[in-house]
Amino acid sequence: MPDNQSAAHILAEKIDREGPISLSDYMGVANAAYYAAKDPIGEDGDFVTAPEVSQMFGELVGIWLSDLWLRKGSPAHVHYVELGPGRGTLAADALRSMEKFGCKPQIHFVETSPLLKAKQTALHDSAAWHESIDSLPTDAPLMVVANEFFDALPVEQFVSTEDGWRRHMVARDRNKFVAVPGMHAIETPVSKSSAGLPLGTILESSPASVQILGDLSHRIAKQGGAALIIDYGYDRPGTGSTLQAVKDHMPISPFDSPGTSDLTAHVDFHSLSNIAKTRLLSVHGPAEQGQWLKALGIDHRAKKLAEAVPKQAESIRAAHHRLTHVDEMGRLFRVMAATSMDWPEPEGFVYGEN
Ligand code: SAH
Repeated sequence: MPDNQSAAHILAEKIDREGPISLSDYMGVANAAYYAAKDPIGEDGDFVTAPEVSQMFGELVGIWLSDLWLRKGSPAHVHYVELGPGRGTLAADALRSMEKFGCKPQIHFVETSPLLKAKQTALHDSAAWHESIDSLPTDAPLMVVANEFFDALPVEQFVSTEDGWRRHMVARDRNKFVAVPGMHAIETPVSKSSAGLPLGTILESSPASVQILGDLSHRIAKQGGAALIIDYGYDRPGTGSTLQAVKDHMPISPFDSPGTSDLTAHVDFHSLSNIAKTRLLSVHGPAEQGQWLKALGIDHRAKKLAEAVPKQAESIRAAHHRLTHVDEMGRLFRVMAATSMDWPEPEGFVYGEN
């Protein structure tokens, strides 16, 4: 298992051996080492995720899934699948809510970090773990949840130069890693609409995300079910790099000490939506997280929780604010659902006035 030092070491050796490597190779090695070495989630870690802010988040995800399942006629045999479940908190809150509606799916976690797997085991001893979506069961509908999973998957970048489009590569400059345009021009990475873009324009894409959601959508179309994707990202095609690194809740350069910071990119919901549609799923949203949570009743849930535990009323109010307010996680985070044609229309995707 690579430790932090060895992520930089592995990358340096690879570059010395092969020459500059693609950004996605760099990000893949760095993040695998990062998640293998530590639990980065929480106030003491590098970043805080919505399920760690409050139990309300996972509960509402569970209610959303239960509602779909009930309206589908409560199929006895279904699978709860979570991609990158972190500490297992979201699954614990969601499955507790689902049980109240009589929904007791089999639990499947897709997780590559041995350290986080161990944390998840402590809360979910009956779950089955998968290294990738390929080994997920094929015998029943899949209810899939992915919160802050797709942002961790590797991206590629293409930069417009005087000599045409070049892939962004990662090279070494003495002891540092640096991004450089690739040696050779490549075919225009996206459609003809990229033809007139100014020199220096960066286009970003995540082939790994498209591959995973494409395969998963194919499964859902065949087996039935739904996928709920929640992440920070954008709805329309855009330009520019969104690659970022976070350590101790602070941004740092993505090229400083790979393997010790969380490398992410904003999720391209436009591409994810398109790939799910081409696999014949029905796509809903993306909606803003704040609006989606409000449509599902977070205001009411916060009020009830505060009444039940008056001592925690202030922290419940703060968590509600953090999850829903447009200046916090309420707008940057998006919620998108993709459902099989034979499953009902999901709740929560109503758009109010902004
Ligand atoms: N969903 C959790 C954790 C988000 S952090 C939460 O909301 O708190 C990202 C998670 O994805 C971690 O569990 C990490 O180990 C996992 N992960 C990252 N890359 C992965 C990959 N390629 N395959 C499977 N899991 C991955």
